[in-house]
Parts: sequence; C-alpha cells; structure tokens
Amino acid sequence: MHSTDVIILGAGAAGLMCAQLSARRGRRVLLLDHANKPGKKILMSGGGRCNFTNLYTEPSNFLSHNAHFCKSALARYTQWDFIELVCKHGVPYHEKKLGQLFCDNKASDILDMLLAECDEAGAEIRMHTSIEQIDKTDSGYLLRTSAGPFACQSLVIATGGLSIPTLGATGFGYQVARQFGHTLLPTRAGLVPFTITEPQLKAM
Ligand SMILES: Cc1cc2nc3c(=O)[nH]c(=O)nc-3n(C[C@H](O)[C@H](O)[C@H](O)COP(=O)(O)OP(=O)(O)OC[C@H]3O[C@@H](n4cnc5c(N)ncnc54)[C@H](O)[C@@H]3O)c2cc1C
Repeated sequence: MHSTDVIILGAGAAGLMCAQLSARRGRRVLLLDHANKPGKKILMSGGGRCNFTNLYTEPSNFLSHNAHFCKSALARYTQWDFIELVCKHGVPYHEKKLGQLFCDNKASDILDMLLAECDEAGAEIRMHTSIEQIDKTDSGYLLRTSAGPFACQSLVIATGGLSIPTLGATGFGYQVARQFGHTLLPTRAGLVPFTITEPQLKAM
C-alpha cells in the first residue's frame, strides 16, 4: 500500500496551491484526481486569461455565512503573496479595471506556474484516479481508489464545486462532508447570480 503524509483530492487551483505549500513545509504530498489533466477550470477562467487576483481584495468584499473565515484566510495569504509568486515566474499581467489582474497572454501561464511550483516542491500528481471510499483510521485516513489503496496522515478535500461537470466537477466534496458529519447548506448556481425583487420584475 502507498503511504504518505498528505493526500490532496482534486488537482484544481485549490489542490495545486495546497500541494505546493504542504510540500514546501517538508511533507510528502500526493495529489489525486480522476480527470485526465490538472487545472482544467483555470484554463477557462477570465475568458481564457485568468483574472487571478484583485488589488483591493479584503474580507469585506466577500459574501459568507461566516465573515470570520475570510478574515483568517486572507490574513495568512494575501493578494500580494500571490502577485509575488506570479512575478517570480515572470508571468506578464495587467490591471483591467477596478484592480482586476489578468494574464497578458493565457490562463495556462497560471496553471503552468502552479504545476512548476508543485514539481519544484516535490509534490506528486496522479491523474485518472477515482476515489471509491474514505475511512478514518487511528493514524489518519485510508483511501480505496481505482489505483489501489492509499494511506495518509492528513487528507485535504479540494474537489471543487458543482459547476461545469464536463471538466470533471462532481459533488464529491459535499458527499465527504456529509460522511464526516458536517452540516451542508443547499447549493445553488453562483457564478453570475442575478437577483431582482418582484416590484423590479414588474417594472421591467
Ligand atoms: C467560466 C468560468 C470562469 C471563471 N473565471 C474566473 C476568474 O477569472 N478568476 C477567478 O478567480 N475565478 C474564476 N472562476 C472560478 C474559478 O475557476 C474556480 O473557483 C476555481 O477554478 C475552483 O478551483 P477548485 O480547485 O476549487 O476546483 P476545480 O477547479 O473544480 O478542481 C476540482 C478538481 O477535483 C477533481 N475532482 C472532482 N471530483 C473528484 C473525485 N470524485 N475524485 C477525484 N477528483 C475529483 C476535478 O477533476 C478537478 O480537477 C471561473 C469559473 C468559471 C466556470
């Protein structure tokens, strides 16, 4: 059985970022994903140019049931940390408007950057791997997968949300959250929410 320190499920933006940071902390990291290629959603982000951060990112700009979550997350890794990473890799970018930063060339620059970081940090990525079962053990987690069993001390679920199932999106993260007793709120499409009241609708 393959045994490692950290297994991350999902090689999207979140999983790749987590993999390189965990590996840089000296942990043995394995990233598993059932798709054929990592980071497919990154490639279509920002109309193909990836709006990778915003100069004015701050907790008050986020809608959340728990406003404190954004405060702690953004206190530990800011837009400036990400911009520094982008500059380190020489990715050309520009401000479009209102602080939105886009790649000059293609969103694949951001994906290539994250893959290079994973490679440099020593995180291993295995695609074409479906997760069949997760069990908690005394020392961590035991995974049954299409590529055989895996054991790890820490398990990160970064399998993303439900949008664009053709790119590999599934409700797997919600299923695992349910399995481990977390409370789930009902999901709804959120990419471009457009909400109007009844009087506004009538006026239109
Ligand atoms: C059209 C579009 C444009 C966007 N533009 C922008 C933008 O410009 N800027 C921005 O910040 N955000 C943008 N977003 C949002 C952004 O792309 C996503 O928030 C981000 O990519 C999500 O990353 P993630 O790692 O959480 O999930 P995902 O990218 O969805 O990655 C999840 C990974 O998990 C894998 N997976 C799922 N289920 C399983 C399973 N059961 N077993 C194994 N692997 C599994 C998937 O194959 C996938 O590789 C855009 C989104 C869309 C759809």
